[in-house]
Amino acid sequence: MRRLATLLFVMLGACSQTPVSDPAPAPVAAPSTPTAAPPTVVPPIDVSALRADLTLFASDAFQGRLAGTPAARRAAEFIAERLTAAGLEPAGDSGFFQRVPLSRQVFAPTTKFLVTSRGRATELKLGEDVAPILRVGDYHTQLSTEGELVFAGYALSVPQLNRNDLAGLNLAGKVVVFLGGAPPNADSATRARLESPEQLGQRLGAILNGGAAGIVIMAVGTLEDDFDAVASEVASGALELGPGEQEPSRVVPMVMFARPRSGSPLLPSGWPADDKPQALGRHLTARITLGRAQTESYNVVALLRGRDPALSRSYVALGAHLDHIGVQPAAGRDSIANGADDDGSGSMGLVAIARALAASPERPRRSLLFVWHTGEEAGMLGSEWFVTHPTVPIDSVVAQLNADMIGRNAPDSLMLVGPRAAPNGQSRVLGALVDSVNTALPRPFTINREWDSPDHPEQIYLRSDHYSYAKRGIPIVFYTTGLHEDYHKVTDEVSKIDFDKLTRVSELIMRSALAVANRTERPRSGR
Ligand SMILES: [Zn+2]
Repeated sequence: MRRLATLLFVMLGACSQTPVSDPAPAPVAAPSTPTAAPPTVVPPIDVSALRADLTLFASDAFQGRLAGTPAARRAAEFIAERLTAAGLEPAGDSGFFQRVPLSRQVFAPTTKFLVTSRGRATELKLGEDVAPILRVGDYHTQLSTEGELVFAGYALSVPQLNRNDLAGLNLAGKVVVFLGGAPPNADSATRARLESPEQLGQRLGAILNGGAAGIVIMAVGTLEDDFDAVASEVASGALELGPGEQEPSRVVPMVMFARPRSGSPLLPSGWPADDKPQALGRHLTARITLGRAQTESYNVVALLRGRDPALSRSYVALGAHLDHIGVQPAAGRDSIANGADDDGSGSMGLVAIARALAASPERPRRSLLFVWHTGEEAGMLGSEWFVTHPTVPIDSVVAQLNADMIGRNAPDSLMLVGPRAAPNGQSRVLGALVDSVNTALPRPFTINREWDSPDHPEQIYLRSDHYSYAKRGIPIVFYTTGLHEDYHKVTDEVSKIDFDKLTRVSELIMRSALAVANRTERPRSGR
């Protein structure tokens, strides 16, 4: 799962000129609740094979599975070997693999960030003092900017916190610096809200609407993790889809994270005591020079052909992401982010489902299409590639079930995202089907729907591969057991996985897939 992806989405959504998503979903008549015909045969998940697979897949041998590296290629091969052994049909463009062309954007040494004040220049260090965001989703940020520095406090208008930061500030043509978190007088609930991607995005949007030439977000509070994530991309080279493979993108002014330090030339000299909005009387010149290196990575695609002559030409897609965030610079003794939960759990859960179904004597009516995506952490690149270069006709994909982080937290809790958050009610029928499958389980999950909202501050609906499918109008359900303290840390280890829960979530996903696959009607909304 990815957090940064949401920032610019939300930010651009907040800019009146640049709507990026459908407006609020039109009210849709409640679909008649579909009931799933229970599959006659539900094959068992092999728990010990699932445990053995994830223990290997989340071991240091895979070096954190960063897309575009040999380690991610080995992770793809690991999955393909298991699919071959289970007897799945290859459905990529070269056997089980689908080649995803990527560019790695490398910062050239001529990249410079200079603050000048009364003729004296101070250089900011890339990756230590500042970490620019190059691209999120379909949007690029400008590679150069310059202007007078204006400090906008927290860029908040919250009377309860005595902040009205943007009032009276002239932002046009300025490089605007603001503290990205919450003021010291905020209580913990307010703090959590102010540090959310949605809230931060709104502040970015307001500053952009004020005509800023560039934006510097001081990474205070939990935003320190975002700084580290971007700095890590700066060090390894930010990935995007290969040249000529992207839809033309819109460009917005330069946006960067900066490390808040007292004495930083980007902050008032009296900070942290002085956090009043003010012109800093200094000037920033920033110029990024990028080199591009071509690389590639691989989706893994497999097919379980359905038994019904007509329906087998349509597909229920099951997805997870095989990549993770690689080796983290300067992360102490352990520097390998093994991503056992993110998304080793979903990846190996899908392998277990494929293995169980391939061994079953009864095939579903529709075909099942398994896709392990690469480059999710770099901005859902593998799923974007798959939906634009599908190996089956994309119109024949009737639903996509996405598993990302499904092995942690309280034993009976599960989040389902999509039925309410997706626009135009396009996932509501599918959501009702999944609910009926869950209810029929011997031990149903308690479904947490808090995240299934287009307005939730964490914007989870935008944050994993299902979104690439949903953008094409495909009904989706995103299964996740939620965030935890090891999210995107080197401590996301296999020892913390609840295998009983992972098995039960995998069973629910498998039964959901069978329910959709054995039903004659597509799970479309009731229009
Ligand atoms: Zn992730």
